Amino acid sequence: MTILDGKKIAAEVLAECREKIEGLKAMGVTPGLAVVLVGEDPASQVYVRSKVLKCGEMGIYSRKIELPQDCSRDEVLEVVRELNGDDAIHGILVQSPPPPQIDEREIINLIDPGKDVDGFHPVNVGKLVMEDDAGFVPCTPAGCVRLIRESGIETSGAHAVVIGRSMIVGKPLALLLMGKGVNATVTVAHSRTHELAEVCRRADILVAAIGRPGFVTADFVKDGAVVIDVGINRVEDPGKKKGYRLVGDVAYDEVAPKCRAITPVPGGVGPMTIAGLMANTVKAAQLRSGK
Ligand code: NAP
Repeated sequence: MTILDGKKIAAEVLAECREKIEGLKAMGVTPGLAVVLVGEDPASQVYVRSKVLKCGEMGIYSRKIELPQDCSRDEVLEVVRELNGDDAIHGILVQSPPPPQIDEREIINLIDPGKDVDGFHPVNVGKLVMEDDAGFVPCTPAGCVRLIRESGIETSGAHAVVIGRSMIVGKPLALLLMGKGVNATVTVAHSRTHELAEVCRRADILVAAIGRPGFVTADFVKDGAVVIDVGINRVEDPGKKKGYRLVGDVAYDEVAPKCRAITPVPGGVGPMTIAGLMANTVKAAQLRSGK
């Protein structure tokens, strides 16, 4: 059984980014990322902090814009409009989820598609469907596919089962896996899927993107399958300083012995996601500056 090392492969992605950043800077362009955080969701605060820190490490200019929990729709829209017109900013992301009074879709639709480094704008979703490389692919699914391929796992003709159909993970991942060059045969499962464990047992590659700790147990997994655990769930742990620990959607201890390869949580898909964000920001700067 191989543990798929997201940290190692993410480091390779970041090394490629560094080279490109140096090239851009030599031509007078510093890639810039704006991260908009609306409200006080604790997990969002952690994600935003780590994104900003990573920009600093990489030599990417970053700007964090924090808006209060009770801010209005118009305030958020105004921030996005300003960032769209700001030449120092090549990438814009609005951390999900916003407070209930904010319509996330309306905000995403306003982001300039050329700055939509999360890949959530309809123009980029369309480009993904059409396999147009000029678009931005959401970072987590792109990271999953890179992790699988760089680990030498054969995807062509393999049966991939993706549990989850969100716009952030499940749907774009299904598109990437079925795309030319990856060539998997894809099944997408969700909360209404009948006989879920049986469906999953047919997978050569099983991806869990559900948001339920330890949901995928050994009876979901065929011997020799590759298991990609996208889940990041906080579970109470009084033994930890923070009072919680992070676990995936897969019951790792019972599933791992059956697998050919599996991602750990943390240290699997998570590092690939943040590396993908850096890569998309660099790509946005390259496209905008024509370099
Ligand atoms: P989401 O929008 O809540 O989607 C969850 C999906 O799981 C839905 O399609 C849902 O089905 C399905 N589901 C829920 N309960 C199910 C059940 N009992 N049986 C089968 N399917 C079920 O979540 P998400 O944004 O995709 O995120 C999923 C997980 O990935 C979360 O733990 C999140 O924290 C994590 N995540 C990690 C990263 C990373 O960098 N590693 C990035 C993004 C997200 P329905 O559509 O039928 O409701």
